[in-house]
Amino acid sequence: MPSALVFFNELSDAPSKAQRELLTLASRFDRATLAVASEVPQSAQDVVSGYGVDKLLVAPGNDDVFIDHALSALAAAVKQSEADVVLVANDNFNREIAARLAVRLDGAVITDAIDVSADLVVTKDELAGSYSAQAKATNGTLFVTVKPNSIEDAPQPQSQGQQLEVQPLDYEAAATPAIRIVATEAKAVSDRPKLTEARVVVAGGRGVNGDFGPVEDLADALAGAVGASRAATDAGWISHDAQIGQTGVTVSPQLFISAGISGAIQQKAGMQTSKCIIAINKDVDAPVFEIADFGIVGDLAKVLPQAAEEIRRR
Ligand code: FAD
Repeated sequence: MPSALVFFNELSDAPSKAQRELLTLASRFDRATLAVASEVPQSAQDVVSGYGVDKLLVAPGNDDVFIDHALSALAAAVKQSEADVVLVANDNFNREIAARLAVRLDGAVITDAIDVSADLVVTKDELAGSYSAQAKATNGTLFVTVKPNSIEDAPQPQSQGQQLEVQPLDYEAAATPAIRIVATEAKAVSDRPKLTEARVVVAGGRGVNGDFGPVEDLADALAGAVGASRAATDAGWISHDAQIGQTGVTVSPQLFISAGISGAIQQKAGMQTSKCIIAINKDVDAPVFEIADFGIVGDLAKVLPQAAEEIRRR
């Protein structure tokens, strides 16, 4: 029966939703090891043991914001755990680590996965979710980057209170790092929840016509996150981090409000698993209405402020 290794660059007091999903996936395997490239607080260790993780490998902390430290830590963890499959998040940082190590260790890498079975068959969506493909590695350690919101977070009740074996990672830092930081600058951090973890997402598209104010205001009234279509991020109206879809992030909130977005297949690929979708569009034939639970045909510049006002009044 295959064994799994989950890798996090860091783990705070409360594991994030994406991290809990990876731990849930790992619990399907015969043995599950978690490796973290920095110190792990006791409170996080308690949560991790509730997911049936057998062993925690911890590397010493490091200020390296680039990839060298994490790469060396994961290379050591793969060796120490003898895992058959390595599960990491599907962000740029982890995709790079997975790809580089798969090459270095003569293994295989599959990105954008939405599921991995206990016999190592990886499922991923193709063509913006029109097809689902199953793939299997033919050789070496398998590295899989798993899309957030693909796996239902489910701690293992039988593992609660289970003793977690904690070991230091037998870690060798790169003698001469390939990259050295010459300066850092702190940027303003948003108070809003993380887009991939928010219970409510309000997203705007080309229809906002350059003004994300009403979208942001409704998101704040609902304590939600702000997302966008590619047309809006390409136009420079909002950061590319906010892009939802095939080439952006995948979200699966309780409530998704789509404003001025037509509902192209590549956009739907990133939000169609939302529990409730409300679409606001002035075109009654917009494809987004095909997947919406509730639709409002109207001008977002009028609908969004009215909605925010009504929510704040209650
Ligand atoms: P449009 O399609 O132009 O739609 C704007 C909508 O706003 C229209 O329906 C219009 O009726 C409505 N509207 C206009 N004014 C108002 C108003 N005042 N009030 C209400 N409604 C109004 N797109 C993504 O979003 N994410 C991706 O990850 C992504 N990846 C892609 C990958 C590939 C390989 C390709 C080829 C494309 C990708 N796209 C992606 C682009 C995608 O095909 C669409 O072009 C894009 O989603 C369109 O964005 P939009 O809906 O905001 O704009």
